[in-house]
Amino acid sequence: MRTVPGRTNGIVVVGAGLSGLSAALHLAGRGRRVTVVERGPGPGGRVGRLELGGYHLDTGPTVLTMPGIVRDTFAAVGAEMTAYLTLRRLEPAYTACFADGSRLPVHTGAEAMAEAVRDFAGPAEAAGYLQLRTWLTRLYRAEFDRFIASNIDSPLSLLSRNLAQVVALGGFRRLDPKISTFLGDERLRRVFTFQALYAGESPMHALALYAVIPYMDTVGGVYFPEGGIAALPRGLAAAAESAGVQFRYGDGAEALERRGGRVLAVLTSSGDRIPCDAVVLTGELPESYRLLGRTPRRPLRLSPAPSALVMHVGAAGDWPDVGHHTISFGDAWASTFRELITEGRPMGDPSLLITRPTAGDPSLAPPDRHLFSILAPTPNLERGPIDWSREAEPAAAALLGEVRKRLLPGLEAEVSHLISPADWAGRGMVAGTPFSYAHSFVQTGPFRPRNLPRGVENVVLAGAGTVPGVGVPTVLLSGRLAADRVTGPAPGSRTGDSR
Ligand SMILES: Cc1cc2nc3c(=O)[nH]c(=O)nc-3n(C[C@H](O)[C@H](O)[C@H](O)COP(=O)(O)OP(=O)(O)OC[C@H]3O[C@@H](n4cnc5c(N)ncnc54)[C@H](O)[C@@H]3O)c2cc1C
Repeated sequence: MRTVPGRTNGIVVVGAGLSGLSAALHLAGRGRRVTVVERGPGPGGRVGRLELGGYHLDTGPTVLTMPGIVRDTFAAVGAEMTAYLTLRRLEPAYTACFADGSRLPVHTGAEAMAEAVRDFAGPAEAAGYLQLRTWLTRLYRAEFDRFIASNIDSPLSLLSRNLAQVVALGGFRRLDPKISTFLGDERLRRVFTFQALYAGESPMHALALYAVIPYMDTVGGVYFPEGGIAALPRGLAAAAESAGVQFRYGDGAEALERRGGRVLAVLTSSGDRIPCDAVVLTGELPESYRLLGRTPRRPLRLSPAPSALVMHVGAAGDWPDVGHHTISFGDAWASTFRELITEGRPMGDPSLLITRPTAGDPSLAPPDRHLFSILAPTPNLERGPIDWSREAEPAAAALLGEVRKRLLPGLEAEVSHLISPADWAGRGMVAGTPFSYAHSFVQTGPFRPRNLPRGVENVVLAGAGTVPGVGVPTVLLSGRLAADRVTGPAPGSRTGDSR
């Protein structure tokens, strides 16, 4: 594996999102002196928190998977996760609601889920589910260590036993047809393929190897931290501080001072110069390349993932049957992905992720109140140049009407907060999407922008735009992979099953 040459004692990490926090922890745990420069007021980046009228809103991710990777990130400095963060497994992980009125709880346990599938669609589908589960597990094991949690220097280095296994498992077929070999019921197939959208792809087009994502949530489980998702970056930052990492919040990296192919210092917006032996950049790729002072050959041609309109609502009322996560499927399916990804139009009959964090943690809202977030996938601004300054409010009103009809009758917002693709763009996110570049095959693994940029010796990238990619567990891994590029892998480092 290629690493940064020369001295690597003092490291500056730019950005205190999850990838930056992870890089800082892994580097500090390996004896490096680490300074984190973050232009925002605190840690978290996209894992945002908004305090509104006594409600505590998580404005970023809601589906937290792979707690083993979170545990490993704390363990990088010898910290116990439980000292900083209390994670609870959600049971069921989701409830899937369909346009025909049927509902399916998606349990993580094999027996509980087989029983739910039997009740929902009969014994043949339950048997198919158990076979699917075995296949998902084998696929995950074939892919994880070698292709997701490792630095890859060249596509040729992938030619291995694991690749042969992925091929033999059908990983290079399309996802939806592959899942159809296990499940005949179209509603069930949706439950194990909608996750392709997390990778910015449609289930009909994505390769079956992306079934590692449904493995992560439907088999590995979905978790929620006490105090909300914002507790995750806060906990990581606290562990890093205890391990000696210095944080400079409210100070942006303005430029890199270079001599030849080496960066000598990071120059900040407050006018400071922080000398360093190596730098980890974790912002959006165009921002990282701006700091590097060069136009990359590739990123401009990369295709961004679809975006989302997210509405947060605080309300009084009683919806005892509504759990933490509901996937509310519209009747339409294939056309939905066509609209989003190919045609650049809002979904005509939307499928929605509706999250109710107060289902398990009432402290996130005032007494007798509930908090909901409603995420509606939308085209990114490149694919669908919608004028969100005009369209966001009417779209939100329509969304609320749909949600009242499908799941939450009588929902009246006491407080609300809307985030549209225009807002993501205003925060510097490429094409107004918070989900970075899509994980099409040609933008995955060795084909995704590398974490060792060319033309400079001692800069490493981390975060959603580089390897392995978008999502909480993945960017935590990207921080570890960046640290490995600086120091080489930690002795005895754990790359096994991180559930
Ligand atoms: C609405 C939403 C829903 C999501 N849902 C899920 C989900 O359910 N499950 C899941 O796994 N993932 C989800 N994600 C994706 C996940 O949150 C992100 O992939 C991940 O948090 C990105 O982390 P990062 O470290 O790459 O980037 P960021 O969080 O963006 O961190 C980068 C940091 O760098 C800072 N920075 C940039 N440039 C500079 C500079 N020059 N100087 C100083 N600081 C700088 C930024 O301020 C920022 O804090 C969701 C994201 C959003 C927004």
